[in-house]
Amino acid sequence: MDKDQTTPVTIACGCGKKLGDSAIIEEPRYGFFGDLTLLFGVTAAPKRIDYRCVKCGKVVHSASDAQTIKQFTH
Ligand SMILES: [Zn+2]
Repeated sequence: MDKDQTTPVTIACGCGKKLGDSAIIEEPRYGFFGDLTLLFGVTAAPKRIDYRCVKCGKVVHSASDAQTIKQFTH
């Protein structure tokens, strides 16, 4: 799906959903530096993106590559 993905983790959540399923939502995670950048009023880039199942709450995948981060940087 994403050829730049370096961690080909294909785990399913508790109810069998996997990355790409509509039940999997993307959650940007902001670390300490993200909070700092918010304070300074500059663009905040998430530290990583968690992909979580909305039904069971399990994170099935995390992405921290620059390309993915960029998509969530506003
Ligand atoms: Zn699930």
